[in-house]
This record gives sequence, C-alpha cells and structure tokens, in this order.
Amino acid sequence: METDLEADLKELRQVFNSGKTKESSWRISQLHGLLHLLEDRENDISMALKQDLGKHHVEAYRDEIGTVVKSVNYALKNLKQWMAGKKASLPLAAFPSKAELLHEPLGVVLIISSWNFPIGLSLEPMIGAIAAGNAIVLKPSELAPSCSSFLAETIRDYLDNSAVKVIEGGSAIGERLLEHKFDKIFFTGSTRVGRSVMSAAAQHLTPVTLELGGKCPAVVDFFSTSRDADMATKRIVWGKFGACAGQACIGIDYVLIEKKYASNLVELLKKYITQCYGDGPTGSHSMSKIINKKHFSRLKSLIDEPRVKSSIVHGGLLDEESLFIWPTILVDPPLDAAIMMEEIFGPLLPVITLERIEDSIEFIRARPKPLALYAFTKDEHFQKGLISETSSGSIMFNDVILQYAVDTLPFGGVGESGFGRYHGKYSFENFSHEKVVVMRSFLIDFWFRYPPWDDKKLQL
Ligand code: NAD
Repeated sequence: METDLEADLKELRQVFNSGKTKESSWRISQLHGLLHLLEDRENDISMALKQDLGKHHVEAYRDEIGTVVKSVNYALKNLKQWMAGKKASLPLAAFPSKAELLHEPLGVVLIISSWNFPIGLSLEPMIGAIAAGNAIVLKPSELAPSCSSFLAETIRDYLDNSAVKVIEGGSAIGERLLEHKFDKIFFTGSTRVGRSVMSAAAQHLTPVTLELGGKCPAVVDFFSTSRDADMATKRIVWGKFGACAGQACIGIDYVLIEKKYASNLVELLKKYITQCYGDGPTGSHSMSKIINKKHFSRLKSLIDEPRVKSSIVHGGLLDEESLFIWPTILVDPPLDAAIMMEEIFGPLLPVITLERIEDSIEFIRARPKPLALYAFTKDEHFQKGLISETSSGSIMFNDVILQYAVDTLPFGGVGESGFGRYHGKYSFENFSHEKVVVMRSFLIDFWFRYPPWDDKKLQL
C-alpha cells in the first residue's frame, strides 16, 4: 500500500511533469507567498525561535526573518534576468548554426536543514529552488520542533501545496526520504550525516550540495592602535557568541594569536563579553540557549576534562535547567583534547597561542579545510599569505560572518566543510541545469564527415 510519503512524492512528480512550476508566473507567485508568510507571521516566527533556541527577537529578525526577506526580494528583482537564455558562439565549422544556454529546473528536489537557524536555513535554499522552477520537499530539523511545525503549517497555507511540501521528522524519516529518487539534494548539517546523504544519493546518481560545518579559526595579528584592538575584539565576541550562542557553522570556533599578545586580548574579550552579555547569575536575554540537553552535555563534557578545565580563564558556568552556558574563554587547552579536535558549536572560545603569527598558516593547513577563515590584520603581506596558502569556503579580514548575508557572493564550503554554493544567483544555478541548445540548418553539409573513411578525409 502506498504511504503518505510515497503519495506526496508521486504528487510532486506529477505536478512537476505538468510544467506548472516551470512557469515564471508560478515562481513569482510562490516567492510572493514566502514574503507574505514572513511578513504576516513575523511574531510567530520569533516566538518559535524563542521556544526552540531562546533567540532574542532582534537576533531572530537579523539572522532569519530579515535575511530571508532580503533574499526573496533580491530573487524577485532578478528572476527575469536569471531565467533569460544566454547566446553562445560556435566555431565557423558549424556554420550556419546558433547556440544558446538555457536554465531548466532539475525536477523534484529535497532540502534537508539543520536546527541552528531553522527558519533561515530552510527558506534560503527554498528561494533558489522555487526561482529555478522545481517541486520541493523540505525536511526541517526535528531538534527545533516549534520551527519545524511552524514551517509545516504555514508553508501549506502560503505556498502551492501540490508543489511544495514539508515533511517533518528526524533521522528515520530522513533516511526514508533518501531511499527515493530526487533530482537534487541540498543538505545543511553535520559532516557525519553529510556522508550518509552523499552515499544514499549515489544510489540514484542524484547531485548533492553539502553545506557542512567544521572549525572556523580567527587569526588575530597584533593591533597597532587601541581603537583597532577594541573593534576587532568586539567583532570577535559578536562572531563567537552573537549568532545563536556559537551554534553557527560560520561562527568563530577558536582564536590564534601570538603568545605575547594573548593576555591583552583576553582582558579585552572579558570586557566586551561583560558589556554585551553581563555577568549576572541568570544568564543574558541577548544570548541564545543551547538547543537541548544532549548538546548541553556534549559541551559540558568538552570543558569538564580536567586538563581542559584548568585552561578556563573566564566563564565556565553552566545552568542545566535553562540550558544556558555563559561565554567561556580558555587559553591553550591541549590540542589533542576534544575541544580542539571537534567542532565546538557553542559559547566556548579557545585562544591558542603561537610563537609567531605566521605559524597560524601551518596550524590551519594541518587541519580540515574550514567553512570560513577570519583574520584580523592590516599586514598586506600576511593577508596575501593567508589567502594563497590556506583553503576555506571563504576568508574574511577584520570582520566576521557578514559574508553570509550578501546576495552577490556565493556561500559554501570546500573539502570537509562541504561543496556546492548558493545565495542570490548561485542558488538559482544550484537548482538548475544549464542546458545547451544548438540549432543547425540544412543549408550546407560536408561530405568528409561521413564514412567510409579514407586518408583524403583525414588530410582535410
Ligand atoms: P545533523 O547532520 O545532525 O542534522 C541535519 C539534518 O539532517 C536534520 O534535519 C536531521 O534530521 C537530518 N538527519 C539526521 N540524520 C539523518 C540521516 N541519517 N539521514 C537523513 N537525514 C538525517 O546536523 P545538525 O545537528 O542539525 O546541525 C549542526 C551541523 O550543521 C553542524 O556541523 C554545523 O556546522 C552544520 N551547519 C552547516 C551550515 C552551512 O551552511 N554550512 C549551516 C548550519 C549548520
């Protein structure tokens, strides 16, 4: 007997085959539907994010609602241009003929998203999938249940339910979905699950985009003025604790700095942590909570290791009841401890000291390629060295995270931080096939292209 899941997938395939989603009018109406959803239900989204992650509504607007509204508007403004074919030139030997590159939708696509930006990371890829004219299954993360059920309920109401479906559930439903053939899988999540997604996709030769995680370093060179030092430190505090309490794929994982500057940096970090988040016993309403008990215990165990605990110089307080972890700084925890071997994904900031800042290049190269690399330095020679001698999804100097929210820049990883890219036109391309269309005429034909072969034909 056909299950609901199979019936849903069958319906999506039929609707895609009908050509409905290819129409530009359909794409535009769905993008407007997304805008209405975000505008009408802004308060409900903030509430769901508060329930799942304790996100402040300012942070919720900045990172999820506002960012997606911006991206939908960008897609609406550029859709016509993205959909237009591109003429291509052909060699004289092909005369008379003409060629064009056309973007066609891939078909029925699957988007699997993570819990840390449960609205943003579900809707952002969906913009590209809709703009490119696909039918869509979205599977949000079960670990953010309020956001998952919000998406299931509202997408049904605001978008074309025959072509866009939300299927809720955890790994079991994820695995069931992956047994089916999709025309593209767009996965945001851990490297571990990314591997399973890719091997399941291989069974159907389905192309995948993997938006994965890892450890994003921030290299801190010395500061020539106290103004630079202050601004850099504020940005580091913001880039570590300010986006979902460090539960962000492009948040700073650890800092690298020369030994002689470390104590200065730590003092500044403490000052700005206190300024942004206070040091009160009840935690801060400006910082998110840890998603659940399992992740709370995982983070706790990272700092409970005695040789790691002794490296804590600030914070280290945890409240299991509220799942709040105070911003914590550690100086030189052992490099073979779990905190330096795994993605931290929480508000714990190791500061690793080096003899020379140039050693940071070797330090980064010796580890998996990060999704983002940050460096606070005005030394152009060092900047060039970091650009050319390290590899990362993106590299940003003197600030953090902003590269994510820019429609004109592709976002994605390299190596173990993933592959494939999206945002703006790159999302449209991610969910499209660029088809070559060649038109020949019957005007001229060359006799030497046809067998039987003889050497005269080769000489021509
Ligand atoms: P996760 O890999 O545990 O889960 C991601 C999604 O996959 C969820 O929807 C989950 O239900 C689903 N899933 C889990 N097991 C599955 C299976 N066996 N088959 C199919 N689907 C399965 O990741 P997470 O804990 O939700 O997210 C945290 C990770 O995601 C971190 O590593 C983080 O760095 C990464 N991340 C990356 C980006 C990016 O854009 N590169 C963004 C956010 C998070």
